[in-house]
Amino acid sequence: MKKIYLSSPTMHGEEQKYIKEAFDTNWIAPLGKNVDEFERQMAEFVGTKYAAALTSGTAALHLATKLAFKELYGDNKGAQTVGEMLREQGKELPVVLCSDMTFAATVNPVAYEGGKHVFIESERTTWNMNPEALEEAFKQYPQAKIVLVANLYGTPSQLEEIQKIAKAHNAILIEDAAESLGASVRMSDGTKRNTGTFGKYNAISFNGNKIITTSGGGMLLSDDADAVLKARFWSTQARDDAAWYEHSEVGYNYRMSNIIAGVGLGQLPYIEEHRKKKEWIYNYYKEAFKNLPVEMNPYKEGDTPNFWLSCLTINKDAMKIATPEKLAKLLADKNIDSRPIWKPMHLQPLYKKAPFVSLGDKVGDDVFARGICLPSDIKNTEEDMQLIVDTIKNAF
Ligand SMILES: *Cc1c(COP(=O)(O)O)cnc(C)c1O
Repeated sequence: MKKIYLSSPTMHGEEQKYIKEAFDTNWIAPLGKNVDEFERQMAEFVGTKYAAALTSGTAALHLATKLAFKELYGDNKGAQTVGEMLREQGKELPVVLCSDMTFAATVNPVAYEGGKHVFIESERTTWNMNPEALEEAFKQYPQAKIVLVANLYGTPSQLEEIQKIAKAHNAILIEDAAESLGASVRMSDGTKRNTGTFGKYNAISFNGNKIITTSGGGMLLSDDADAVLKARFWSTQARDDAAWYEHSEVGYNYRMSNIIAGVGLGQLPYIEEHRKKKEWIYNYYKEAFKNLPVEMNPYKEGDTPNFWLSCLTINKDAMKIATPEKLAKLLADKNIDSRPIWKPMHLQPLYKKAPFVSLGDKVGDDVFARGICLPSDIKNTEEDMQLIVDTIKNAF
């Protein structure tokens, strides 16, 4: 039986041209022409001044968090992390106001650096961070100076509002656009602005399941030249300027290799084509399910998601007829991939002690209970889509 995937890599052939060039010039080791060019083209595509190509989106988020901590608390020379330094000084640890409905990689870097998470409830319009709950969080945690927002499933958060709120509280905004490369927001003045440009520091991912992929990789995007230079320094083992290996800071081996950057250069021209196919998939589901007691994952009118994953929630009163588990089982029987909704951070065993700022709606708990991620692979044919849709219709 043919397997239908949630979201698998789609290669186009040009990737091999860049890889071959890297081989031919023996530029296999980290750095080289492909890395420089991939950074330049990606920064231009998204709309930031600078970029640092890294081994993963998680690495980009880690360095983004480190940059924000450094800006607020200074160099942690001597101590390995800012958290350790503040603890030694008997000071309060940095509080970071984080998206709740996201993948753990968004927020784990706060733990790497010894910060404290406060999770912010989602809203119904986009399933992302609720701007009103963020306002409330600043009342409860006026010491918070960093906001970490993720765009779930390729749907932009209410980024213009969130950016405004962060600014009003003198907080640094970090945007996790790992899932939303190619998505854009309609601003209140009518212009469009890409996700991955709202944060002072922004992260994207080229993991195997993302809208374009380098097999694994990520990028830090920013308009701050010094910050990007610092990220490149940290990502190549933080070697001070000396003839021998001299270190005054903790470094990482996070730099993207020249081969991998070649795959990225081959993929980059296809972002919008992939986005359009993902949109076709979303709209196919939406049309097919219009008479079922389900809703597709929502987005704000005027915004342009990249539709990375299509998801549905089963209406409350229809949960007696079908549950996400039942749909997953019926799909699996036909060799079709699906995935539960990302379990919210405030429900994770790892983060259950962290505070959760809620306005009482508990959107994450609700969507997690009633939702499922549907196959959103851009290689899906019309027949594949029909099979998925028929399988789900049969469940009701
Ligand atoms: C994939 C993903 C990441 C991590 O990216 P990697 O390249 O896999 O390290 C971070 N945040 C979100 C929301 C993601 O979906």
